[in-house]
Amino acid sequence: MAALCRGRHRWKKTDCFHILTRALTGKHEYDLLVVGGGSGGLACSKEAAQLGQKVIVLDYVEPSVKGTKWGLGGTCVNVGCIPKKLMHQTALLGTAVKDAQKYGWNISGPVSHDWSTMADAIQNHVRSLNWGHRVQLQDKKVKYLNMKGSLLDEHTVKAVTKAGKETTLTAKNIVLATGGRPRYPTNIPGAMEHGITSDDIFWLKKSPGKTLVVGASYVALESAGFLTGLGLDATVMVRSIALRGFDQQMAGLVTDYMEAYGTRFAWNSLPKRVDKLSSGALQVTWVDTQTGAEQKDTFDSVLWAVGRAPETKALGLDKVGVQINEQTGKIVVREDESTSVPNIYAFGDIGEGRPELTPTAIQAGKLLARRLAGQGDELMNYDNVPTTVFTPLEYGCVGLSEEEAVRKFSKDGVEVYHAFFKPLEFTVAERDVSQCYLKVICERHRDQKILGLHFTGPNAGEVTQGFALGLQCGATYSHLQKTVGIHPTCAEEVTKVNITKRSGLDATVTGC
Ligand code: FAD
Ligand code: NDP
Repeated sequence: MAALCRGRHRWKKTDCFHILTRALTGKHEYDLLVVGGGSGGLACSKEAAQLGQKVIVLDYVEPSVKGTKWGLGGTCVNVGCIPKKLMHQTALLGTAVKDAQKYGWNISGPVSHDWSTMADAIQNHVRSLNWGHRVQLQDKKVKYLNMKGSLLDEHTVKAVTKAGKETTLTAKNIVLATGGRPRYPTNIPGAMEHGITSDDIFWLKKSPGKTLVVGASYVALESAGFLTGLGLDATVMVRSIALRGFDQQMAGLVTDYMEAYGTRFAWNSLPKRVDKLSSGALQVTWVDTQTGAEQKDTFDSVLWAVGRAPETKALGLDKVGVQINEQTGKIVVREDESTSVPNIYAFGDIGEGRPELTPTAIQAGKLLARRLAGQGDELMNYDNVPTTVFTPLEYGCVGLSEEEAVRKFSKDGVEVYHAFFKPLEFTVAERDVSQCYLKVICERHRDQKILGLHFTGPNAGEVTQGFALGLQCGATYSHLQKTVGIHPTCAEEVTKVNITKRSGLDATVTGC
């Protein structure tokens, strides 16, 4: 044993003991060890345990730069989808209160919003989810350790508690599902010192006040949207385009609606520095990328929403030879989520090229667990993954954007059916419907297979989810025409769409 451990001087005796015991007996303590108890890791470990595997999951949260901490469940539960959707709902209720008066509700006195009441309620809900996850792991006989994991070899993980206590664990298979964390820009003085990220916004005890949101993708637009909806002064700083990678006609409708709703946009603007004034206000200096002119304004908060970095640095990947993409820091994975090292798998937000979405992480994790348990061979299908941007006017989509469809099939090979529709609930409330729009992108020839579906309007997630099934089943325009609508809904407008963009006809839906 001593001879074998020689040269591995950085390992403790106990590490060597576990590794050698395994080498000599061929036995591991666990069938599956999952590092990361977020959307993907929890789904994978619970599924594996249900299939009779002996499973352990490690989850550990490093506090944010600002010191925000949270419990078990990962990004979605604590600092992502769940608190975000609840703050979005809070904002929608504010709009509903305004609509309500048009519907005859007497709302006496000025309506105002109290951040701390909302935050307390949402944080309590999140804590109940943390607890629920713990109970589920216990019920399903998954061992859970609140410890940070890193690889020692292809079957061995070192786990460390907050207090620094170490233990070594061995498993036949290791799954890495450590997700990502928000990035701070590196070259902007004051950015990290004075700014917050999505890791903090949902856990603030008091309102962020007048807020500058830097970035123009999902996190930025959703955050600026709910802040505006809560009555705060919110500005989005866009360096290039909004919602890169999404259909740009739809992105335009989303930002047009937000501007009309009260969100400010600083287009073509690059932040340069953030200074804290003696008043406590944050002075942001930025450059107009078109004119080069420098501008300044003061804010109470600056929220960086400039993308996320994968949590791969502390995993000891280099020790074991797990290949990463040096540019993105993400783990290179094959279609079965395997990495360059046998017995080590990775998926979810740390997988190179994978969508950064909870449902894909969950489904990929379950399928991986089944394959590892020898109970199936189905691979995750990453095509036609639907998604929704929860901006004040929600945007749901599935399949190709119009740009992608044209690139793939040529302008002549694509037929786009579209409609500007009027949600019934907007009529009495006299709300502007200019940006309520849908389009169905089809192959022009053969059977007009649907390539993509895009919808801006109320409940876009609910609308898009059902149609995603259609795309998964290879639906054609003819299938859509044969689908009977549910009246009166916004979703029925998708089944009725009949004006092609090519025709140049007015696509405004009239009548009920
Ligand atoms: P995570 O959920 O991030 O879980 C990883 C876990 O591993 C974390 O708990 C982390 O602390 C832990 N960990 C990291 N390193 C270690 C280690 N060395 N040892 C032990 N534990 C470790 N997706 C949607 O589908 N819909 C939405 O509406 C949506 N909204 C979002 C809103 C925001 C603001 C953000 C930031 C994201 C949102 N997402 C949304 C994306 C979604 O949250 C992620 O795609 C999803 O959580 C990824 O799951 P995961 O399992 O890969 O990682
Ligand atoms: P993204 O990587 O999608 O977008 C980053 C944004 O920040 C882009 O607009 C980018 O502009 C801009 N940016 C980057 N660096 C700078 C800089 N230095 N200065 C100014 N702007 C900058 O990140 P997000 O954090 O928005 O989202 C991460 C992922 O989380 C998403 O891809 C999504 O999968 C998931 N998510 C899902 C949600 C949902 O399902 N509803 C909600 C929220 C997140 P440019 O285009 O010029 O590069």
